[in-house]
Amino acid sequence: MRTLASVVALVAACALAPLASARTVLLGRSWQGRPIHAVEVGNPSGTPVVVVGCIHGNETGGIVIARALERLSPRDLDLWIVPDLNPDGVAAGRRQNAHGVDLNRNFPWRWRPFSGVYASGPHPLSEREARIAHALILRLRPHLTIWFHQHLDLVWASGGDRRIERKFARVSGLPYHPLPPLAGSAISWENNTLPGTTAFAAELPAAEPGPVAVARYVRAVIAAAHAP
Ligand SMILES: [Zn+2]
Repeated sequence: MRTLASVVALVAACALAPLASARTVLLGRSWQGRPIHAVEVGNPSGTPVVVVGCIHGNETGGIVIARALERLSPRDLDLWIVPDLNPDGVAAGRRQNAHGVDLNRNFPWRWRPFSGVYASGPHPLSEREARIAHALILRLRPHLTIWFHQHLDLVWASGGDRRIERKFARVSGLPYHPLPPLAGSAISWENNTLPGTTAFAAELPAAEPGPVAVARYVRAVIAAAHAP
């Protein structure tokens, strides 16, 4: 009930109309056949915003935030939520997908061959899951994309609009850190190939966020979407 209460309070605070207008879209399937869904809420004519709850399978804290976002209906945002881009990794409790590839090194911008923990795959976009996100983002060209990670406890800002990233940091309470771009990362690909858009990583602390924290991160997403 606390979760519901906090979401209701959040909805009131943000002057959002709670509508039952969420649309679930099957984007594709993982290598092991698990569905990868997006949920679209808000106004399809509004500003496109994408939130990815999980790309590294052992960093699942953003999934509960994604689920809370699905309950909103921001009237000026076309909010696309991908709770879990790496369901095989989540099922296995590991960072990589079922091929042992770090999806966040499999994107085209400055892709380089890496092995081990950060294995980048045989070539850019070799992985289904990366192609699914790549296609969605190219189709929507989101004004803002927020990728949830763990466990660095900071906003990893590497190339987007700093005013937007700082807004998220302020509202969420995560420290703001300008950090270098990463070869093959989804965020660096977006920031370097989609001019005028912003993507950043929200690195949550290690623990699963509780209801109060979830409500704060949801507020931060909405605030960042409206910044600067
Ligand atoms: Zn991560």
